Amino acid sequence: MNDCIFCKIIAGEIPAKKLYEDDDVLAFWDISPKAPVHFLVIPKKHIPRPVDVKEDDDPLTGKLFRIGAQLAGEKGVGDDYRVIFNNGEKSGQEVFHLHMHILGGKGKPWAM
Ligand code: AMP
Ligand code: ZN
Repeated sequence: MNDCIFCKIIAGEIPAKKLYEDDDVLAFWDISPKAPVHFLVIPKKHIPRPVDVKEDDDPLTGKLFRIGAQLAGEKGVGDDYRVIFNNGEKSGQEVFHLHMHILGGKGKPWAM
């Protein structure tokens, strides 16, 4: 967990361009955007992969979607955006801290 780059961003040990933060959730711009609008919404709790989500996490994971939608609206992609979670190395997951990609803007489809 201490090697987790997103935990380090949460702790303020690594800089990130933050979009939103509260006690449970952090959102920041992806450092290597694959779309005109590409940000990540993460729980502050370290959950490695989507498959590691437990029943107790239901409110937290629901909140990721709600905050993602709110920020997509604020960033001008309205209700036209793609939501991606990668699960496991073969899926392309590189950072093993649960994160929701939001991709949108001109030039869809937004591939990763
Ligand atoms: P995934 O492939 O689903 O694990 O996605 C990880 C994402 O995190 C990639 O889109 C990276 O560009 C992004 N990323 C990695 N390091 C950082 C960082 N320090 N700040 C912002 N985004 C990052
Ligand atoms: Zn972490």
